[in-house]
Amino acid sequence: MKPLPDPSLAVREAVRNMTPYATARHECTREAEIFLDANENPFGTPGGGAWNRYPDPDASALKTAFSQLLHVGPESIIAGSGSDEIIDLLFRACCDPGREQAAVITPSYGMYDVCARIHNVGTVHLPLDRDFDLDLDRTLDQLARRPHLKLLFLCSPNNPTGNLLSADRVNALAAAFSGITVVDEAYIDFAEDPGMVASLSGQSRLFLLRTFSKAWGMAAVRVGFGIGDPRLIAILNRIKLPYNLGTPAQEAALEVLRHAGERTRMIGTIRGERNRLSTALESFPSIIRVFPSDANFLLVRTRDAGGLHAYLLSRGIVVRNRSSLPGCENCLRISVGTPAENDALLKALREQEDRK
Ligand SMILES: *Cc1c(COP(=O)(O)O)cnc(C)c1O
Repeated sequence: MKPLPDPSLAVREAVRNMTPYATARHECTREAEIFLDANENPFGTPGGGAWNRYPDPDASALKTAFSQLLHVGPESIIAGSGSDEIIDLLFRACCDPGREQAAVITPSYGMYDVCARIHNVGTVHLPLDRDFDLDLDRTLDQLARRPHLKLLFLCSPNNPTGNLLSADRVNALAAAFSGITVVDEAYIDFAEDPGMVASLSGQSRLFLLRTFSKAWGMAAVRVGFGIGDPRLIAILNRIKLPYNLGTPAQEAALEVLRHAGERTRMIGTIRGERNRLSTALESFPSIIRVFPSDANFLLVRTRDAGGLHAYLLSRGIVVRNRSSLPGCENCLRISVGTPAENDALLKALREQEDRK
């Protein structure tokens, strides 16, 4: 069998060859009792906390626990302060500013573009097809014509459209593209699909993003992961800020992993509410279409997104107006809430119809 391509070839030369910052914690590998190496406060934390020591720079316990859930090795995982940090790291690792580029599907999550701009990296937009799936032939053609492309951002289930991308098409792109194909799986826990993890063993340039901000209910804590070939993960670990995840975040994430059953129950309720909300929303004359969703939100095409958005806001309900995105004209994105919250939304919509 042919060896898989080395994904670190997509990394900027200066980064591939650099020596990382060695933290005090990295330099001391032996068991020690007295730590006089990192200029910490030896007494503890005012107020009684025990946060005076620097965190584990490798988040080892957390990565090990998460790796068992995914059935991949911890050497295939990097932990970050939210998956947004991993997106930023990918740009820093792979794209020479002002010269190299990234491709992003559109419509999708705005962070890829924003991050590219911050790094002075140009973006190529890849329009999705009418079903918001990948347009394979057109995308392959676009990738082939751009020699300076280093990153390709896909998102499945996609935000804001809510649908999974076809795994066949994702795999075909990842196999053909010489750079890193990133699949953001922030919403995969809400889909009845395991996502792309199983493809990693045969696709060394495929890279996945996962987050604890959505189904795991930890948006305030900031924990996310990148999953990919250990050669690329090693480089990302080398260039990340040494203490990117604080001890409270590492501990909270470990704790939530011990309650996976509760998460599963919450997801079950959210899926049920998603279906109920979807059916109910379709019945309103102000709504033209509710798109199918594999996520915890619904993309809804309305007759007047601006007007409906403002009306709901006047009723104390905030939804996201996505009308400015290509293919999302007059669309609102509505997160699935608790049953009571969803009832309040439906009641507000009913009362608007009654007033007409
Ligand atoms: C919410 C979301 C994230 C989460 O980002 P974090 O930094 O982990 O909170 C990532 N990707 C997409 C597409 C999202 O919608």
